[in-house]
Amino acid sequence: MIRRLFQGVAGVADATSQLHADAVAPSLIPVAADPKLREECGVVAIHGHPDAARQVYLGLYALQHRGQESAGIASADGQRLANIKGMGLVSEIFTDDVLAKLPGTMAIGHTRYSTTGDSALLNAQPIRVDSTKGLIAIAHNGNLVNLGNIRARLERDGAYFQTTSDSEIIVQLIAHSKQGTLVDCIADSLGRVDGAFSIVMMTRDRIFAARDPRGFRPLSIGRIKNHEGPDTIVFASETCAFDLLRAEYIRDVLPGELVMVTEDGLTSRQYSTGVPQTSCIFEHVYFARPDSRIFGRWVQESRDQMGRQLARESGVPADVVVPVPDSGVTASIGYAEEAGLPFRMGLIRNHYVGRTFIEPEQRVRDFGVRLKLNPVHNLLEGKRVILIDDSIIRGTTSRKIVRMVRGAGAKEVHLRISCPPTISPCFYGVDTPSKRDLIAANKSVEEIRQFIEADSLSYLSLDGLLKACETKEKTGYCTACYTGNYPTQWVDVDEILPATVTI
Ligand code: SF4
Repeated sequence: MIRRLFQGVAGVADATSQLHADAVAPSLIPVAADPKLREECGVVAIHGHPDAARQVYLGLYALQHRGQESAGIASADGQRLANIKGMGLVSEIFTDDVLAKLPGTMAIGHTRYSTTGDSALLNAQPIRVDSTKGLIAIAHNGNLVNLGNIRARLERDGAYFQTTSDSEIIVQLIAHSKQGTLVDCIADSLGRVDGAFSIVMMTRDRIFAARDPRGFRPLSIGRIKNHEGPDTIVFASETCAFDLLRAEYIRDVLPGELVMVTEDGLTSRQYSTGVPQTSCIFEHVYFARPDSRIFGRWVQESRDQMGRQLARESGVPADVVVPVPDSGVTASIGYAEEAGLPFRMGLIRNHYVGRTFIEPEQRVRDFGVRLKLNPVHNLLEGKRVILIDDSIIRGTTSRKIVRMVRGAGAKEVHLRISCPPTISPCFYGVDTPSKRDLIAANKSVEEIRQFIEADSLSYLSLDGLLKACETKEKTGYCTACYTGNYPTQWVDVDEILPATVTI
């Protein structure tokens, strides 16, 4: 049964660009042409390090790709629990002076792109709540799907919410739990919420980490070896954070597992069992960094296999394979090797484009995309080009890129997508448009090909994608945005209504 529970999420990019627009309108335009789905959030936690906040800072720095809107760090020294957060990039917020205000051997951190709750600083994380169970700070990656009725019930029971973020619901549930110990209260509360959550929590003297029973979002445990005392324990959304911290990967936090770290070491319990794992396959397609190992598999390896499989499924005579950078690069290398074709960086991405840009006096066609990408004419001229990207959302950006490659002299442009058509929105922490705005939900592949003006268009099959992400442990994946089959009962019916007009 599908029930409507929550309304669509207000676009954070709209809110921030509005702030800019108020200041210097109308010459600033949002670089809204970003073709990609938005990353969700990244979390880090450190236990047992003399400079824990700075270690969390480094971890967040490595996870910046998972959210650039706000960041925060909370630290604890056994007595106090300090919390500092701000809008912007990790390096913009946390200067030396700011980090000096976060003492202690424990810290948690968060980098955010909002998915539930608005984008105000109020909703930046970690959220610190002074509850009946003491001070608790929480940082959360994911999205709860049954928050509406829980929040109403908690408010009836006297809960006072400081934010509109769903993460605070978990803390309020803990505060209202009737279990005897704090760890029992946390386990009890996590069992009451549904949806996607990889969380790290901190009290004055303990760190907790947990994943939802389906394991939607990644969360790994690492260790920094200390020769003169207990090892430092690290949690991070992606293992690329461990590399910067020189931490070794131990294992993933399991779906439905609650881990507690105290000065006596690490203990763990399964607060939920028997729920099939549905980890987000789109982490492998796009979100996670290729140098991370998530859900038991290197992301680089998965993307390479997606490219190879794509070449086997939809090869076409061509002269060169060109990625749409950056996320299309690894799949393109796999495709080129499998197809025996040269791989060329025929599009160059400008990494320094911010959220807004001063518009030129005269409107330039496809300006937003041209800001971000520029063709390398001598690599494309007269060539039959296979262009590899990882998604087509609304189709308008793909059309601009196809036009750009053709405009640079390509004889033919064959677009290949390293996953199946995106036909349904995500309710688990990824900011997708509603179904009515997803081109693949409303047009056939041939109609999309015509719309984007490519000579041919093919997507990777669902079987091909699953094969490319296969693990020895037989990881179960969520593929709802490609199938419309949601692993949870609660979804927003408004978001999955079909289009009433042709997009
Ligand atoms: S719907 Fe798509 S993006 Fe969302 S969790 Fe499932 S696979 Fe990931």
